[in-house]
Amino acid sequence: MLTQEHEALKESVREFAREVVAPVIGKFYEQHAFPYEIVRQMGRMGLFGLPFPEDQGGMGGDYFALCLTLEELARIDSSVAITLEAAISLGAMPIYRFGTEEQKAQWLPQLIRGEALAAFGLTEPGFGSDAGGTQTRAVLDGDEWVINGSKAFITNSGTDITALVTVTAVTGTNPDGSKELSTIIVPSGTPGFTVQPGYSKVGWCASDTHELTFSDCRVPASNLLGQRGRGFAQFLRILDEGRIAIAALSVGLAQGCVGESIKYAKERHAFGRPIGAFQAIQFKIADMEMGAHTARLAYYDAAARMLAGEDFKRQAAIAKLHASEVAVNNAREATQIHGGYGFMNEFPVARFWRDSKILEIGEGTSEVQRMIIARDLGL
Ligand SMILES: Cc1cc2nc3c(=O)[nH]c(=O)nc-3n(C[C@H](O)[C@H](O)[C@H](O)COP(=O)(O)OP(=O)(O)OC[C@H]3O[C@@H](n4cnc5c(N)ncnc54)[C@H](O)[C@@H]3O)c2cc1C
Repeated sequence: MLTQEHEALKESVREFAREVVAPVIGKFYEQHAFPYEIVRQMGRMGLFGLPFPEDQGGMGGDYFALCLTLEELARIDSSVAITLEAAISLGAMPIYRFGTEEQKAQWLPQLIRGEALAAFGLTEPGFGSDAGGTQTRAVLDGDEWVINGSKAFITNSGTDITALVTVTAVTGTNPDGSKELSTIIVPSGTPGFTVQPGYSKVGWCASDTHELTFSDCRVPASNLLGQRGRGFAQFLRILDEGRIAIAALSVGLAQGCVGESIKYAKERHAFGRPIGAFQAIQFKIADMEMGAHTARLAYYDAAARMLAGEDFKRQAAIAKLHASEVAVNNAREATQIHGGYGFMNEFPVARFWRDSKILEIGEGTSEVQRMIIARDLGL
């Protein structure tokens, strides 16, 4: 099913995750610190340029290659995986898809090399699922946008190498009375743009997440991304794609749980036998493997449809919904198999457990995925 290139990519990312990420990530996680050196190394490997064409400085791969990479990274650690996912899918991709030639020339080379990160600010403190609730406003004043409002939970928005955040804002009213939404590029360091201190999170502790505030923040009118009023359509496209990536990341975590559980079940003894000899434990692990396998097929299918230019909205929602629920289940069962040690942060399964829950929330909650599927079925 996979090409030789895809197999080779998976193998090299797997080795990188095992050799470079695994030995150190626990420390970053504990300290809620961003792993700059790991990000630099991923940049040197070309991972930030995976789905972009070579003439833009990318690797000339496709979105599926990105998904395979995220799966391999998340088998070891989700903070690193989500940093890459958000940098590409939410950061660079909107500029690549909707940007002018000038915007692409200005931002893409550094983003594709992983020397800089971009973030995407849609969610606000008062809404997430319902984008119609957007309160952030941008008003044209001469040849500048003046932005006021705030964004919540924005990934990669406050690192030392964050170059910009693309924000959605209300820029007017549509003929039918609904809000006109547009997206605008705000470079880091623009006066009036403040990055609030990082959140104290349950999981993804080595990834970077901030609330952002905009107070009479002025950027050139030319920072509009794509057409005015197309903000809604733009982020729907970005989120549809992103769901396949989050599904892949979820599969990685789910598979990581299987691997750690098999290892532990062979080592740990109870009642004179390895716990893996008990059918109750075997069945748990068999079910975990089944979940990871079927979730992988679901994201492969969604990615294949996307790359074939077919409608993939429903399949992406199914993949994200199924894979995130499998990840949560596998993390819960893997922790159970580890007994008391599973509750200790030094064991990878504890990190998997803490990192799994957000997968049912970020880039569209499970309820939102069910809404998308039901709507696509004509309900
Ligand atoms: C660590 C982290 C990183 C994130 N990164 C980003 C980022 O980079 N950029 C960004 O823009 N956002 C980001 N987010 C935000 C994330 O996408 C939102 O949290 C998510 O979309 C849910 O929105 P909400 O938190 O406002 O929940 P709400 O929309 O308030 O939902 C609360 C609950 O109500 C349910 N609900 C809402 N509407 C309905 C309905 N119609 N029917 C049934 N149930 C419903 C939801 O499913 C949920 O269970 C991030 C969040 C986190 C925690």
